[in-house]
Amino acid sequence: MKSAHSILEHVFGYDAFRGQQQAIIDTLIQGDDALVLMPTGGGKSLCYQIPALVRDGCGVVVSPLIALMQDQVDALKAAGVNAGFLNSSLSMEQASEIEQALLNGELELLYVAPERLIQPRCLNLLKRANISLFAIDEAHCVSQWGHDFRADYLQLSLLHEQFPHIPRVALTATADERTRQEIAQRLDLQNAAHFVSGFDRPNIQYRIELKDKPRQQLLQFLRDEQAGNAGVIYCLSRNKVEKTAEWLSDEGFNALPYHAGLPSELRAHHQQRFLREDGIIMVATIAFGMGIDKPDVRFVAHLDLPKSIEAYYQETGRAGRDGEAATALLLYGLEDVVKLGQMAAGSDGNEQFKRLERQRLEAMLGLCEITSCRRQTLLRYFGETLSEPCGNCDCCLQPPVTWDGSQVSQKLLSCVYRTGQRFGANHVVDVLRGSTNEKVMQFKHDQLSTYGIGRDLSVNEWRAVVRQLVARGYLRVDADAYGALCLTERCRALLRGEEQIQLRKTPAKASAVGTRSRT
Ligand code: ADP
Ligand code: ZN
Repeated sequence: MKSAHSILEHVFGYDAFRGQQQAIIDTLIQGDDALVLMPTGGGKSLCYQIPALVRDGCGVVVSPLIALMQDQVDALKAAGVNAGFLNSSLSMEQASEIEQALLNGELELLYVAPERLIQPRCLNLLKRANISLFAIDEAHCVSQWGHDFRADYLQLSLLHEQFPHIPRVALTATADERTRQEIAQRLDLQNAAHFVSGFDRPNIQYRIELKDKPRQQLLQFLRDEQAGNAGVIYCLSRNKVEKTAEWLSDEGFNALPYHAGLPSELRAHHQQRFLREDGIIMVATIAFGMGIDKPDVRFVAHLDLPKSIEAYYQETGRAGRDGEAATALLLYGLEDVVKLGQMAAGSDGNEQFKRLERQRLEAMLGLCEITSCRRQTLLRYFGETLSEPCGNCDCCLQPPVTWDGSQVSQKLLSCVYRTGQRFGANHVVDVLRGSTNEKVMQFKHDQLSTYGIGRDLSVNEWRAVVRQLVARGYLRVDADAYGALCLTERCRALLRGEEQIQLRKTPAKASAVGTRSRT
């Protein structure tokens, strides 16, 4: 039997294991189960590839990423490993060739799509073969509350029932404590050893700015800091992806669009160009990225707020996989919160699902509005502690100025209350600033005690107060009621003056960009 280390060297060409790879590999070689949480780029593949080569029989890898199986298998073959895949892209002949190789004991690694694996025909095939282990990649797809849920994954617990003696490893890059438990429970991995490794990506600089003139902000970032670099720009809608890609091309960038509505050949073509050419900017919806292994992505920019911290972490994690400096820039605004909230409310999930979506969104907004180290908050969300501020996020590099916002917060909360918790931020701010517009008059809000008590702050300053109160849970955006602001239990102490609140001053940078664009 070859040793794990000699395979690492001679097959894969690396001289040392990274992080917890060795411990995970040893666990599987011994025949025990494992649950592996490792950030994107951490080196999850070797964790099952090497034990599959050390153990007798063929390792079966369940992966939802059909588009990438060919590449993975080609790379393994180039390293001299006899690997194959079974998915819907193969002809009958091709598939039966692979099946024969498996039964003859010639295959060392077999990639299978989950929907295929759970078919009785495939399970019977596997029962007749010699299997060394099962690896369940992207295991968070089993989580019903996660954003990548796939129903086929739920059935993967049958692997434990039908192959009780074959070791299984589940791997994922996204998992807060809750998802982790859900994976263990649904995949019957209660006795598995858990390996949670460093979620910190110290080479990624996190920057979160207010959307002011987003195009100018982006342009300045690309020209001043990222000239000639490869990167990904995420937008919420397909339409915005296309418009943004077109505009960047007009501005002289090598920008390509990517979203699920484009013909699959075009999508594949753009993906290939992004992987093979230098300095391509991919403008994409979240349909782009899962499983993409391009080491030198120098930046990931978000033009819209991601819908959760997990999504933000996973999407930004595609930058800097080579360990070199990279930047994650997010531009956000209150309108994003309203829009995402409405999308969640309009989805066909049940009440619990919607509530969780809303909580996730509020946590994401919280990350945007904090005044302390972003990385500390981000890692805390994944159950890790960073003892010192990181020194490589915008809050660390340019500490935000704060001010005592207790009084203005009281004004805002009172105004939300007096207007009946039925109006969005724009109207509430109009009332506070004493606007005489039609809507204010129509509802007779000029007769309220809170009318005009907030003329000292600008509209933008008020919006910043609204965002921060939402982010910290004093106000809620009611997505069912067209983004109406509502009070929460939490705001009582603040309203009674028993609690103080420090607010963030709108950062100078965003306004500087705004001023320049106006001249
Ligand atoms: P993940 O699946 O966790 O996103 P991969 O398995 O694709 O990560 O590995 C990311 C990169 O790191 C790959 O290019 C891989 O070859 C490389 N890598 C993995 N393990 C090691 C190691 N022990 N030494 C050097 N490079 C490694
Ligand atoms: Zn920091």
